[in-house]
Amino acid sequence: MTQFTCDGCGACCRTFPIFASADDAEREPRIAREGRELATHLRTADWRFQLYPLPFRETCGFLDSENRCEIYDSRPDVCRRFEAGSPQCQEARRRGGFGELEKSESVFSS
Ligand code: SF4
Ligand code: SF4
Repeated sequence: MTQFTCDGCGACCRTFPIFASADDAEREPRIAREGRELATHLRTADWRFQLYPLPFRETCGFLDSENRCEIYDSRPDVCRRFEAGSPQCQEARRRGGFGELEKSESVFSS
C-alpha cells in the first residue's frame, strides 16, 4: 500500500479557504475568538467561522512560525480530513512552490 507522510510544509494552511463548524468551535473556543463568524445567510452545517483567508493574515492564524498547528488536538474537522499526498495537498504544495510530496514507503501485506 502506498503511503505519504506529511512533511509539515504548511502549504495547506495558507492556500485554500478554511472554515470551521459550530461543533469545531465548541471543541476549540479559540476558533470563535480568532476566526470570523460568517453572516447568517452564508452559514452551513460545516461553515460557521472562517479561518483563512482573513485580513492581514498570510496563513491560518493558528499556524505558528514553525508551520505547526497551535490547536492540533482540537483542530477543525476539515483539517482532520485533509490527507497528505491527496490532490489537494499536492495542489497546495504546487502553489506554494514546494515540490511534489513523494511516496514515503510501500507496505506489502500477505
Ligand atoms: S500540504 Fe500536504 S505535506 Fe504540506 S503540511 Fe499540508 S498535508 Fe502536509
Ligand atoms: S487549524 Fe491548524 S491544521 Fe487547520 S488550517 Fe489552521 S493551522 Fe492548519
